[in-house]
Amino acid sequence: MITVVVGTQFGDEGKGKIIDFLAEKANFVVRFHGGAGAGHTVVNKHGTFKMHLIPCGIFNQKTTCIISNGVMVDPLVLIEEIKILQKAGIKLVNRFFISSRAHVVFPYHKILDGIFDEAKGELKTATTRRGNGPVHADKVSYYGILLQDLADKKLFGQKLENILKVKNRIIEEFAGKTISFSEVFNLYQEYFKKLKPYIANTLEILENATASRKNLLFEGAHGIFLDNDWGTYPYVTASSILPSNIGAGSGIDPRKIDQVIGVVKAYATRVDSGAGPFPTEINGKLGDAVRLWGAEFGTTTGRPRRIGWLDLVQLSFAVKLCGISFLTLTKADVLSGLKTISVCVGYKLNGKNVDYLDVNSEELKKVTPVYKNFEGWGEMGDIKTYAKLPKEFKKYIEFIETFVKVPVKIVSIGPDRNQTIVNNYL
Ligand code: GDP
Repeated sequence: MITVVVGTQFGDEGKGKIIDFLAEKANFVVRFHGGAGAGHTVVNKHGTFKMHLIPCGIFNQKTTCIISNGVMVDPLVLIEEIKILQKAGIKLVNRFFISSRAHVVFPYHKILDGIFDEAKGELKTATTRRGNGPVHADKVSYYGILLQDLADKKLFGQKLENILKVKNRIIEEFAGKTISFSEVFNLYQEYFKKLKPYIANTLEILENATASRKNLLFEGAHGIFLDNDWGTYPYVTASSILPSNIGAGSGIDPRKIDQVIGVVKAYATRVDSGAGPFPTEINGKLGDAVRLWGAEFGTTTGRPRRIGWLDLVQLSFAVKLCGISFLTLTKADVLSGLKTISVCVGYKLNGKNVDYLDVNSEELKKVTPVYKNFEGWGEMGDIKTYAKLPKEFKKYIEFIETFVKVPVKIVSIGPDRNQTIVNNYL
C-alpha cells in the first residue's frame, strides 16, 4: 500500500507527528522532496526531536527510512541529525538510506539564498536561508553536485571549481567575501566519509518494497500553498509538494498511490516576515494568544509564525489538487476555551466573490474573507475516542467534511503520539 502525507496549508500542520504515528503501520517512510528548511517536531517516548531531513518514521525501529533523490541534502544538518538520533538510542545502520542521486547543499547556496532574497526588498520571500532555492536552481541549470559525485575526487574537484568561478563573483560583489575551494573540498570529503554507510540505490530498495507489497509512507515536507507551481508564488518553496511528485522525487510510479492523507490544522499559520498573502490572518491579542498556546514558532528558524483562521477556500483547492482521500485534523486542542471559532468559506475582492485561482498573490493579499462562526469547545484533555469529543468540535469537523467533500478520519488533540484519535482509519 502506498500512502502520501501532504500538508494542506502553509506547512507546520503537524505532519511530523502524524508520520510518527502512522509509521507504526509502515514498513518504509520516504522523504521525497524539499530540503533542510522543512522542520517537523516529533514528541514520543524517546523525547522531543526537531527533524529536518531524516523521515519522522525513524522512531519506529521496524520502519526503514529513506531520503530519496528529490531531497536536497545538507550534509551538515544531516550529520547533526544522525548524531542526535544515535544519542537517543535510535539505530540507523541498515534501516536508513540516502539516495546517491540526491543533490548536495553547499555553503554558497546558503549565502546566495540571503543575497537573492534581500535584493527583492519588500517583495522578499523571507526564506529559511537554508539554501533551498539556490540548490534547486543549480539542479535545473545543470550546475548541481550529487552525493555520488563526492565519491569521485577528481570529478567533484572539477565541478566545485567551475561552480565557484561563477558563485564567488556574485558573493564577492554582494557580501564582500569569497568561498575557499580547498576548505569546502576538504570539508565535503569528510562529510562524505560520514554519510557513506547510508548512501544507496534507493530506487532499487523502493522497487523491491513495492513488489513485495510493503506499506510505504511518503512524507511530504511543507504545505501545498508553498508549492512552487500552485502555491502563493513567489512566496513559496523551491520544490513541488504534489503527491504525484513522488515520481520525480523517488522514482516510484505515482499511479501506484493508494491514498493521500491531507494534514490540516484547526487554524492556520504562515512562516514569513509578513510578505506572503494570508487572507485569514488574525492580528492583535487573539493572534498572539493562539501563537503562544500553539507554540507557533518556526522549527527551523524560531521565527514567530503568523496566525489565522482555517481557510476552507484553500483547503478545498488542496483537496482537489492533491487528490486527498481523507484529512487528519490537528491542534484543535489549542483553540479550546475560545468562545467563537471562525472558518473562512469564501473570498470577496472589490465586492465580487473570487476563488483561490481567480487572483494572483498580490490580489490575494487584498481579498476579504467571508467567515462562518462556530461555538467554541472546551478542554479535550485525555479524550481517547471520537464519540467523546465535545459536540461543538464534532459539529465543526462535520462542517469541514461537507464543505471540502472528504472525511476527517484522524484527529490529533495534542503533540504526543498517544494524543491521536482515529475515526475509521483503515
Ligand atoms: P510539520 O512541519 O507539519 O511537522 O509541523 P511542525 O512540527 O513544524 O509544527 C507542529 C507543532 O505542533 C509541533 O510542535 C508538534 O509537536 C505540535 N503538534 C502536532 N499536533 C498537535 C496537536 O494536535 N496539538 C498540539 N497542541 N500540538 C500538536
